Amino acid sequence: MTEGSSLLSATGMLPEDIAEALSLKPAFRGKQVFKWIARGAASFAEMSDLPASDRERLSRRPLFSTAVDSSLKGDDGSVKLKIRLGDGAAIESVLLVDAEGRMTACLSTQVGCPMACAFCKTGTLGFLRDLDPAEIVEQYLHLAAIRGKPSNIVFMGMGEPLLNLESLRKAISILMHPDGLAVSRRKITISTCGIVPGIRDLADSGPHVRLAVSLTAATDELRDALMPVNRRWNLATLKDALLYYQGKTGDRITLEAAIMGGENSSVASASAMADWIRPMNAQVNVIPWNPIPGLPYREPERGEVGAFEAELERRGVNAVRRARRGRGVSGACGQLGDTLGASGTVDALYEEDAEED
Ligand code: SF4
Repeated sequence: MTEGSSLLSATGMLPEDIAEALSLKPAFRGKQVFKWIARGAASFAEMSDLPASDRERLSRRPLFSTAVDSSLKGDDGSVKLKIRLGDGAAIESVLLVDAEGRMTACLSTQVGCPMACAFCKTGTLGFLRDLDPAEIVEQYLHLAAIRGKPSNIVFMGMGEPLLNLESLRKAISILMHPDGLAVSRRKITISTCGIVPGIRDLADSGPHVRLAVSLTAATDELRDALMPVNRRWNLATLKDALLYYQGKTGDRITLEAAIMGGENSSVASASAMADWIRPMNAQVNVIPWNPIPGLPYREPERGEVGAFEAELERRGVNAVRRARRGRGVSGACGQLGDTLGASGTVDALYEEDAEED
């Protein structure tokens, strides 16, 4: 794994670490910097309650390790950012706005993704490296600078969050910190494709934010074909881990089902899903698959999705249709990666002239 370039960026630190890393004395100056970052400061020079000598010394140091390269705005209020990292790699982050005006930040945890889910654009790009805590937190800060702090966060962008669990934990502790952004624990969701050791680790050591699992199919044959992770941890192993998680946390789990027409959209698929879920306390988010050029699937017909949902409900499973927010900016589920270049590989995640380390 290649390390990120922002290990010393203050945006990826808790107040006590900031004071030490920036040689600020007394230690409460670390909290001042932390609060300024949460308030949207773009440089140390703006931090007017720091002594002039500290501001002067730090003014030569960039506060952020990343920068917004471009942004795309959709009619529904959604925004997709292409964010350039310090080493020249790029990621995408999305702001989704629902009908009530609630804003959700959809954040990435890796550059590309190694999991290769067959229906996902990011999965076609390959994997470059993990993001560090600053690179995760800065995505939220860039989105917040556009129209205020999003109340909700989903780790559902590029990458598999549970393969980068230590950086994710640190980023969440920064995002939730009461002296900073103070995002509520219940408003943060980690979405995994089913990394069983990560689910067990989360159950044991937290953070106990909301957990979502991309299930998509509930027979091993179909899930093996759509999600290679299933060949490593099959449905029985995944279910054991989720029951363990639920036993520890008492939380309801969200299962995501991206529905591709004619692939996993049948009533029989829904019926298998309902059987598999029992006795878990889970809700299924039914997501009509968003078209992605180059992938061999079709959008499901309205009737197919309706019949799928009806079968889940008939079998006593709570099914919720996910609204297609973010589609106008290709920021909907599985669509991240299309601003990163035409090659469709990890090469597209670096600037052409970027130096690789
Ligand atoms: S769906 Fe998630 S885990 Fe699967 S390839 Fe896409 S980004 Fe990776």
